[in-house]
Amino acid sequence: MSGPDLIVAGGGLAGLTAANRAAGGGLSVLVLERGREPDYFCNSRIAGGLLHVAFRDMTRPAAEIGASVAEAVGGAGDPATALAPLLAGDAGKVLAWLRAEGGAFVRGGAPEFMRWVMAPPRRRRGGLDWKGRGPDALLRRLTRNLASRGGKLRLGCPAEALAVEEGRVAGVQTTAGTERARFVLIADGGFQDNPDLVRRHLSPQPERLFRRGAGAGRGDGIAMAAAVGAATVGMDRFYGHLLGLDAFGNEKLWPYPTLDSLAAVSLLVDGAGRRFCDEGLGGVFMANELARLEDPEGAAVVFDDRHWREDAADNRYPPALNPSFPAAGGHVFEAPTVERLAEELAMPALVETVAMHNDGRHEPARTASRFPAKPVAEPPFRAIRAAAGITYSMGGLAIDREARVLDGEARPIPGLFAAGSAAGGMEGGPRAAYLGGLAKAVATGLRAAEAMLAEGGG
Ligand SMILES: Cc1cc2nc3c(=O)[nH]c(=O)nc-3n(C[C@H](O)[C@H](O)[C@H](O)COP(=O)(O)OP(=O)(O)OC[C@H]3O[C@@H](n4cnc5c(N)ncnc54)[C@H](O)[C@@H]3O)c2cc1C
Repeated sequence: MSGPDLIVAGGGLAGLTAANRAAGGGLSVLVLERGREPDYFCNSRIAGGLLHVAFRDMTRPAAEIGASVAEAVGGAGDPATALAPLLAGDAGKVLAWLRAEGGAFVRGGAPEFMRWVMAPPRRRRGGLDWKGRGPDALLRRLTRNLASRGGKLRLGCPAEALAVEEGRVAGVQTTAGTERARFVLIADGGFQDNPDLVRRHLSPQPERLFRRGAGAGRGDGIAMAAAVGAATVGMDRFYGHLLGLDAFGNEKLWPYPTLDSLAAVSLLVDGAGRRFCDEGLGGVFMANELARLEDPEGAAVVFDDRHWREDAADNRYPPALNPSFPAAGGHVFEAPTVERLAEELAMPALVETVAMHNDGRHEPARTASRFPAKPVAEPPFRAIRAAAGITYSMGGLAIDREARVLDGEARPIPGLFAAGSAAGGMEGGPRAAYLGGLAKAVATGLRAAEAMLAEGGG
């Protein structure tokens, strides 16, 4: 067969990891990337750069990381997270591989999940800050490494469809024609920027979600693979955060600061002033539940002066909401009583909601183990209108342990692999378990490449 051994659709961290591992093992590789510029925008390039699995240090024993993965996922048996334990076992290898490729890391702060931050780290402030920062530096490095191994990266060339010959995926169609290859890896970054798929799986109001990412994940891989019989899994959850609604139109208010840690110890209410989800499950879960509301833009985080002085000012994972949110132009509602705050927000049920919260009567129930709630009792009382910020879809193509794409009967589709945010089966489920998108990209990229090499492609 003419053409490269492997075609990778998508040049983010997952795609470049697999491409380098495969090229290093002797395969000829072509990466097709939709972006046109050498610093094409993708989630990998603009990420915060915190490399962790389930917020644990990558060098911890797999059993310890595995315990955190199990806790995040909340029990085995859900297809959405059936492959999650693999990440615990791969953590050490992922870090070692990135370092061997020339990836640099620093300790970014005291919390355990900041032990391995890609260097140089982003500055401790709001807004996007990516050029020359760790994730951008890593992608440039991986691009150079690929070239030195004889691999090719073709920019401005989206994959459009898969070519199939005799029951095996045998290449990729682009506007320039069909490129043949023995293996195809889909690494297109997910479907968060495809409004139709988001409406079908994540939110009745895609246009009211804040797109907290690079805008590059259009679900092409799912469409291409579905056309050859691929199955999907866990499509109903995304990774994202609670942002201030003012992030629409203010670039200093995204991707950071987030409202997550404040909301987790106070109250998140809908447009009527009623609670609608378990704040104690954290910001990723809350963002998902908010996205599911008919009116995601009506919601607000409601808190008191103590929350604002203590929790919102916690700068261990910067930038702290207090003072960065108002300093960057975000509006914080403030009133001397809860009644006045309810009037300002036009939320009739808020007074009763706060009273119930302060009495410990929570409906829906509230998890207390991770983020114990504090009363909303010290004036002045405050609120910030919230938006659900969507970063990447957690579900995607169904894969096996070797990152082979599966069909509806759980059989591998010969020649087809998926990695990174294009693949499902590791994150999501009822608790919207988030385990780390960067680690997932590298772990699945390595698994895919190693399976191809084991198939004797080199
Ligand atoms: C602001 C922000 C902060 C984050 N912080 C962290 C963090 O600190 N830690 C962490 O673990 N995770 C973080 N993440 C998540 C992490 O960045 C992603 O999970 C990970 O980078 C996904 O890698 P990927 O290669 O799957 O996708 P991407 O990096 O999105 O790459 C996909 C690539 O595919 C290309 N593409 C799309 N369609 C096609 C097509 N048809 N043909 C060819 N190419 C195509 C796109 O242009 C893109 O370049 C963050 C994300 C964002 C946006």
